[in-house]
Amino acid sequence: MLIVIPDKKEFVLEIHHQLSAVYGSQIKYFHDLDPMSELVSSFLSHRTKNKDSRQAFDNLCNTFGSWEVVKDAPIDAVESAIKPCTWPEQKAPRLQQVLRLVAERCGTLNLDFLADLDVPAARKWLEELPGVGPKTSAAVLSFSTLRGKALPVDSHHFRVAARLGIIDAKIGEAKAHQVLEKLLPPDFTAQEVYNNHQVMMRHGQKTCFHYKPACTQCVLLNLCPTGQKLTSQAM
Ligand code: SF4
Repeated sequence: MLIVIPDKKEFVLEIHHQLSAVYGSQIKYFHDLDPMSELVSSFLSHRTKNKDSRQAFDNLCNTFGSWEVVKDAPIDAVESAIKPCTWPEQKAPRLQQVLRLVAERCGTLNLDFLADLDVPAARKWLEELPGVGPKTSAAVLSFSTLRGKALPVDSHHFRVAARLGIIDAKIGEAKAHQVLEKLLPPDFTAQEVYNNHQVMMRHGQKTCFHYKPACTQCVLLNLCPTGQKLTSQAM
């Protein structure tokens, strides 16, 4: 039976609590990178498996030793280092372009100054860089040592939110960032915002699969209109 919680903020909070009971409520940050390194890492991770983007990131560090050297390295050497990623031929020139722009704007390849800006201003600064959208800016602020209060929305998170009816799937991932972040309680800490991203993402990876979501094993079935529809069709 579908349980309807008409207030969307209450609904989102209920989902958060239920998923936190399954995946944890104090989830360890998976990176301790400085924000410049996190920007490179996020950039490499676009449409790439974690294992492969980690390998590409390590290759860059081991081959060049600093972002300064990556910035001025021969393009084919950068492309070769990031070969484990998808589209290395596109990411290599774009990565160097971003590094050059950061060096021009800051005088150094160091983004630690973002800690002095509020989150919207820091996100705006990052999103002025080519190829940096809301997911990357939120990732840099949240996952790096800045530990900022920003919500990244990846494809798993997006799919779970859409199936639960929290967002309309037609709005796309960019707009979903604004909508989903506004639905979280304003007094959520950065850690709680990070937890929210993690539990939604993990649920998409472990239960709410892209093809054939495991609705009958899902703790959210009573709250999920998609799950109710899919399970009633299967009967
Ligand atoms: S009930 Fe099914 S569609 Fe809904 S969140 Fe769970 S797995 Fe996804």
